[in-house]
Amino acid sequence: MLLQGKTAVVTGGTRGIGFAIAKLYLENGANVAIAGSRQETVDKALAQLPEYAGRVMGICPNLCDPEAVGAAFAAVKEKFGSLDILVNNAGVSSRASLYDYSAEEFTNVMNLNVNAVFVCCQAAARIMKPQGGGVIINTSSMVAKIGQPAGCAYPASKFAVNGLTISLARELARDQIRVNAVAPGVTRTDMVAALPEEMVARVSAGIPLGRVGEPLDVANAFLFLASEMGSYVTGAVLGVDGGSVA
Ligand code: NAD
Repeated sequence: MLLQGKTAVVTGGTRGIGFAIAKLYLENGANVAIAGSRQETVDKALAQLPEYAGRVMGICPNLCDPEAVGAAFAAVKEKFGSLDILVNNAGVSSRASLYDYSAEEFTNVMNLNVNAVFVCCQAAARIMKPQGGGVIINTSSMVAKIGQPAGCAYPASKFAVNGLTISLARELARDQIRVNAVAPGVTRTDMVAALPEEMVARVSAGIPLGRVGEPLDVANAFLFLASEMGSYVTGAVLGVDGGSVA
């Protein structure tokens, strides 16, 4: 019950790592708003959490639209009384080669992975400051450190997330708002589950801990940073990658 009485927004909380974070926060006593891109997927996620019906809600703002995000976060505060934790988890990947990249695809990745993080941080901080503090946790990736052989927008966007995290940690510390990031390695979400087992085995063999991460491995880091256990941690980018970039 590390988050008893706290209220969290988890963007992209409808599946994968985001859903694991939302569930773990609920198990630890928090109220949770799951933010998704479509009402249908939000409803599907809520239907998987019937035991928490009174403590979980869904929101669907366009994460790049400051007005929509501001209104949705205000609705969360209205329902639960506060907004204490923001998890910026929603993200898109990209695999195109530089020669085939359209400017539109590059912009789409940057819009969700960076611009939306800025918009959500701003809207949350505006609520957290007068409350006396809060916690923001962004989602980076191990590829922010090592790049990837195709899809350059994705590592570039996660490098920008690290920059936002470090800067906002310094700017918001005076308002008692901690800002950190978690940088997962290869994690078994839908994308990884769709790969052939032999490919997953090959990837696993290259990871020092000998396996790909599970969503709960990553969610545990989000729990630590959101809770009082992380009370003196701000500006950190915490790798959760089985030693992949150690
Ligand atoms: P996923 O594709 O399973 O889930 C992404 C979530 O973001 C979904 O809930 C989706 O609905 C949501 N989303 C997508 N576009 C959105 C939009 N426009 N508005 C609102 N929500 C939107 O991904 P995942 O693997 O669980 O990844 C979650 C985060 O972790 C991402 O930021 C990703 O970059 C990062 N990450 C994942 C891995 C991995 O191996 N899975 C590794 C490193 C980093």
